[in-house]
Amino acid sequence: MSGRPDLRGMDVDELVRWAAELRQPPYRGRQLARWVHGHGARAFDGMTDLPASMRQQLAQRAALTCLRVLHRTTSADGSTTKYLLQCEDGSTVESVWMRYADGRRSACVSTQVGCAMACTFCATGLAGFGRNLTAGEITDQVHVMRLDQGEDPTHVVFMGMGEPLANLDATVRAVRLLNAPYGLGIGIRRITVSTVGLAPQIRRLAKLRLGCKLAVSLHAPDDDLRSQLVPINRRYPIAELMDACREYVEAVGRRLTFEYVLLDGVNDSPDHAARLAALLRGMLAHVNLIPWNPVPNLPYRRPRAERVRQFARVLRSAGIPATVRVERGTDILAACGQLREAHTPGRRPVRLAAAGAR
Ligand code: SAH
Repeated sequence: MSGRPDLRGMDVDELVRWAAELRQPPYRGRQLARWVHGHGARAFDGMTDLPASMRQQLAQRAALTCLRVLHRTTSADGSTTKYLLQCEDGSTVESVWMRYADGRRSACVSTQVGCAMACTFCATGLAGFGRNLTAGEITDQVHVMRLDQGEDPTHVVFMGMGEPLANLDATVRAVRLLNAPYGLGIGIRRITVSTVGLAPQIRRLAKLRLGCKLAVSLHAPDDDLRSQLVPINRRYPIAELMDACREYVEAVGRRLTFEYVLLDGVNDSPDHAARLAALLRGMLAHVNLIPWNPVPNLPYRRPRAERVRQFARVLRSAGIPATVRVERGTDILAACGQLREAHTPGRRPVRLAAAGAR
């Protein structure tokens, strides 16, 4: 990276201060915020209502993170597009755009290059951890996709590569920038952060009262099984995680989502479901079941549909609301847990269709 400060990661107050350094009045900083976070501008010279001299100064002294589209793949049903995006240092991340029949459009973003959590069923962990993404790199994933798609997302989910709460500051900053009125103004309850279950960071997040939704990846009702599937459970076992979750629910007064990936013959029996229900009893919680999405070379299978329905039935009859996540983009390896750093070789790079700011 250039060493110049990245405006893509700055909020409006910081941009106003930055403008002041260029001897510009505060409203210039607010205009800048609109360009950077509202339009997702790709360059300073497109910021037509700023004086040419200021644009020139910006080009010399500031940076503006712009991820590059290396590949774009769309699922056969047209609902899901997976992007391979390149950061300025050459590292790559994957991001996903999903369109739903009811008009919702959801951007799924990555928070790290790779992931250090090494969950045994997930593709991202296989290649290990690269580095944290900056807030600018996180929000720019949304901009690249919305400019390419020609429409804004209604929802953003932090469920791509990486562990958002292991990159807490950049994640929180990105959530705020996406929600800001000078940014895309995405409703705070339409932004979901998913975590593997880092208990101390869940507590920190509770204190921030950010207001976005939180989803916790549980995947097993007991420590023995969870430690096998989610190694970080050895550091933050279920009892400690549940304490942090209860603290979070108390602080924000909203229900939590627990994600539970269903692995055939591993964690998907009616007995597992009953024990999961017992664990969550009395909590303001909802379970989102994710039938496992295949990852080449991993020793798991997706359970049959009837087994998934049965698991959901056991939860519901114990009073725990449960839904089954609709599978999206498995044919292009864009579904949950299928994202990875390396791209499929041999595909042609695709250019941005609408690279200019709107
Ligand atoms: N690090 C965050 C975000 C990960 S992706 C977290 O752990 O929550 C979002 C969800 O997809 C997580 O619940 C994750 O466990 C799940 N997942 C990972 N691999 C999967 C796979 N192959 N099939 C289905 N879900 C998977």
